[in-house]
Amino acid sequence: MAGREKKLMTVAVIAAGGTGTRMSSAVPKQFLVLAGKPILLHTVSGIAALEEIIQIVIALPVEHIPEAQSILQRQSFPIDVQCVPGGSSRQESVSLGVAQARPDADIIMVHDAVRPICDRDMIRRVLNAAWEHGAAVPGLPATETIQRASSSGHVLPTPPREELYAIQTPQAFHAGVLRSALKQAEEAGFLGTDESSVVRWAGHPVMVVPGSQDNIKITRPLDLELAELLISKRSEEGNRAGMNESRIGQGIDYHRLVEGRKLILGGVEIPFEKGLEGHSDADVLAHAVCDALLGAAAMGDIGRHFPDTDPSNRGRSSLEFLREVRSKVESEGWTLRNVDATLLVQRPRIAPHVLAMKQNIAQSLGIAISDVNIKATTTEGMNAEGRGEGISAQAVALLVKREIK
Ligand code: MG
Repeated sequence: MAGREKKLMTVAVIAAGGTGTRMSSAVPKQFLVLAGKPILLHTVSGIAALEEIIQIVIALPVEHIPEAQSILQRQSFPIDVQCVPGGSSRQESVSLGVAQARPDADIIMVHDAVRPICDRDMIRRVLNAAWEHGAAVPGLPATETIQRASSSGHVLPTPPREELYAIQTPQAFHAGVLRSALKQAEEAGFLGTDESSVVRWAGHPVMVVPGSQDNIKITRPLDLELAELLISKRSEEGNRAGMNESRIGQGIDYHRLVEGRKLILGGVEIPFEKGLEGHSDADVLAHAVCDALLGAAAMGDIGRHFPDTDPSNRGRSSLEFLREVRSKVESEGWTLRNVDATLLVQRPRIAPHVLAMKQNIAQSLGIAISDVNIKATTTEGMNAEGRGEGISAQAVALLVKREIK
């Protein structure tokens, strides 16, 4: 649609109710490993990468929730991703997921957990058509002759092929259209084959837009092999096209050790006879990390964003600086991938506090603890740090563009 400027606030509901009977596998299909990570994680991270997506709700059998949560923790997402217990049918599961969707959603998009290779362009086609028409689904024109047959096995009149499509997901709807159709269906006891059939049953037209051949549904072992091939093909293409999608930044900071100040490092108050001198809480580690992020985003340095001359920065916790730097960097379209930092400090011993520092920094930056590394070294008595005159910190951070153009 030409000239559409509005960013569609979209909630994705992922139906992950399958038990994997056709896979003859004890592991539910959505947890099977594909190209090194569980199918569910491929699906969720593919969707979360679209800037239209404001929330992801995964509906799945209650007994699978702990495993799904532990899988999702392997990656950090810039949006809310939650699991809800599903119902006894797909439709009921989707309804329970829709019930958790943010009320400010323009569009609710329903997707299968086991379609991990979802093309951004295709998702956008579906979202735009849904916004324009109220409801849209991706479909592939039928290539083989589809034949109807009676229960006795007799062939019925052949439907015209140009009217036949293999329908995929994601299917997208005006939030209000889907909510009211699901409610009507529940009241009437109508069970559709998919969400679009429910919406159509409730009287809303549904548009078909071109789907994607790669958007396969993983139901049989052979599908898994095909998906591996498709993913490796894509990552090769991505590597060729994606040289400018990630950026690295570095930060260095020094503060003097003085009497009468608390020693705060990585947001942790460390018992010591001296503390770092500075305008804020002088958390040298947090400052170096801030500079690494700002550096990667080419947004200057901490002094420019939080000047010493601004009295409102006096005594502030530097974890707040980290949170603000994160949102500044994210507003430029970047997502933080990882941080690695080193403290240069002769005394006190840092090791007992490293875990708490990592937790503080990971939480302030909205990334997993496993994406934060903190090291400490003495300088063997050399330099100002070695003489106990101060503490310094160095950090690097890697940013990735949230959206691959
Ligand atoms: Mg500083």
